[in-house]
Amino acid sequence: MAENVVLALGSNLGDSAETLAGAVRDIADHPGITLSRISPVAQTKPVGGPEQPDYLNMVIEVVTELSPLEVLDLCQDVEHRHHRVREERWGARTLDVDVIVYGNLRHDDDRLTLPHPRAAERAFVLEPWLWMDPDAHLLGQSVAELAAQASDRDGVRRYEPSASGDTAEA
Ligand code: ATP
Ligand code: CA
Ligand code: CA
Repeated sequence: MAENVVLALGSNLGDSAETLAGAVRDIADHPGITLSRISPVAQTKPVGGPEQPDYLNMVIEVVTELSPLEVLDLCQDVEHRHHRVREERWGARTLDVDVIVYGNLRHDDDRLTLPHPRAAERAFVLEPWLWMDPDAHLLGQSVAELAAQASDRDGVRRYEPSASGDTAEA
């Protein structure tokens, strides 16, 4: 059965805008994936981890008959294609692709937890999700309400490619 799946993408090393665009193309090119919605790109202050550049974040919604683990495999394959390099947990990286929700499925094993266990408190996921889908819900809670409560909310704004400053550009 086809499921609606929300994926979150982030990058803060290299040409992040280009990397995100390429990653969305790669995901959409998979024969088992139909891209249904794309959020605007957010520029976000890093949350936790070491000192590092701002991130660019976005979310996409896809419709797929791939299994949850097949979707995770695809996300990790796309990360590798974009030369994901990372030195330490929550440190800077060229590309991170997380599975936020897979329909209404709850799932927990060594490789995959669904919904993503930290999504509900992350404005850098919730805000772009809301821009894409103002009626979005996560485990029965409105994403709008969750976003309003997220502590990193002030660090999230629309990415404006023309604006210079401390962007994720390396
Ligand atoms: P965070 O999970 O806090 O966003 P991260 O994205 O930096 O941190 P990674 O190093 O990219 O963490 O992922 C670590 C592992 O998390 C992956 O190898 C993957 O197996 C597992 N994982 C569990 N649930 C998910 C999920 N919903 N989406 C993506 N990876 C997941
Ligand atoms: Ca992540
Ligand atoms: Ca990840």
